[in-house]
Amino acid sequence: MIETRGFAVHGTDAKFSPFNFERRDVGPNDILIDIEYCGICHSDIHQVKDEWHDMMPANYPMVPGHEIVGRVTKVGVGVTKFKEGDIAGIGCFVDSCRECPSCTTGNEHYCFKQAAFTYNGTEMDRETPTYGGYSKHYVIDENYAVKVNAEGDLSGVAPLLCAGITTYSPLKKFNVGPGQKVGVVGLGGLGHMAVKIAKAMGADVTVFSTSPGKEADAQKLGASGFIISRDAEAMTAAAGTFNFIIDTVSADHDVNPYIAALGIGGVLAFVGMPGSPNTIHQASLIMGNKVLAGSLIGGIPETQEMLDFCAKHGVTADVELISPDRIEEAYDRTVKSDVRYRFVIDMKNA
Ligand code: NAP
Ligand code: ZN
Ligand code: ZN
Repeated sequence: MIETRGFAVHGTDAKFSPFNFERRDVGPNDILIDIEYCGICHSDIHQVKDEWHDMMPANYPMVPGHEIVGRVTKVGVGVTKFKEGDIAGIGCFVDSCRECPSCTTGNEHYCFKQAAFTYNGTEMDRETPTYGGYSKHYVIDENYAVKVNAEGDLSGVAPLLCAGITTYSPLKKFNVGPGQKVGVVGLGGLGHMAVKIAKAMGADVTVFSTSPGKEADAQKLGASGFIISRDAEAMTAAAGTFNFIIDTVSADHDVNPYIAALGIGGVLAFVGMPGSPNTIHQASLIMGNKVLAGSLIGGIPETQEMLDFCAKHGVTADVELISPDRIEEAYDRTVKSDVRYRFVIDMKNA
């Protein structure tokens, strides 16, 4: 076994402390990654605080982190995709059944037997707990890691492994591109990636935000429009004008104004996952041939495609790099929507 060190919580109080644990030895198809950077996703906060109790109950001690970038320092004898010294990324899952219709079509995240999530889950044996990227090392089967073809500062690449793929996947699926008006609801980690990626795809992007102070940033990120979602008049004026809206909001909110903002045949895709449900009148969809969609991260082939797309278009996350002793502060600020626009933990120097 390989001794390593991470940062864990032991209960819903979200208090982090150093945590020593072991990773498995490097098997024939495994790679060992020395983690350099790990992003803080709002999903980490939901799980640490057990806000998704009914869906994914919290298991403590929990070492969160599924936006991982690091250097490959050891490869198993059967490894072909990586060599020592390569940069690799790990996202939200580290294994799956490899046999079901989802796994065999590159949609491992929708594995019929449920993928092995990177943390707060188990390996496919359903016994061995998984610990995430707020740690120094990860051992993973090479088929579940992606290649990062970037050098220089990698801190802005780490968030692509969740925030990037989660927004890229529905934008791509619904053919966002030139001539389309795209709305992004919530300018946080996912939202700011959605703005950059939709803009790189050629769309005209508008941000819906509760934070008036983010308007200048939205423009810098590539948005041409900015609507304060609590301004009822502005929301009424936006009605019927969008081809596609992606909702990245982490907290409970009424989604009906965004259905109203769609034009005929428009699509509202949910990626943000707050705790409470919404009430929607069927007529609000029927009268405009509108579509509601949901999307979970992305599979390994599409994650690789997204990384290559972002490298080609020079897209990375805007990050605030922190040391592990500031994780609690970062959680508090993220919950208050005071994140510009992703906290990333410097594990290289931890
Ligand atoms: P984040 O950085 O905290 O951003 C969320 C944004 O939502 C905030 O910055 C804020 O933007 C807006 N917001 C917050 N409270 C609000 C409220 N009460 N009403 C309206 N808007 C509010 O979070 P994130 O990391 O981007 O994650 C967002 C959500 O996506 C989380 O629920 C997370 O679990 C989920 N997620 C889903 C997937 C997936 O596969 N589907 C993957 C990753 C994350 P403004 O200040 O602009 O209003
Ligand atoms: Zn995430
Ligand atoms: Zn499967």
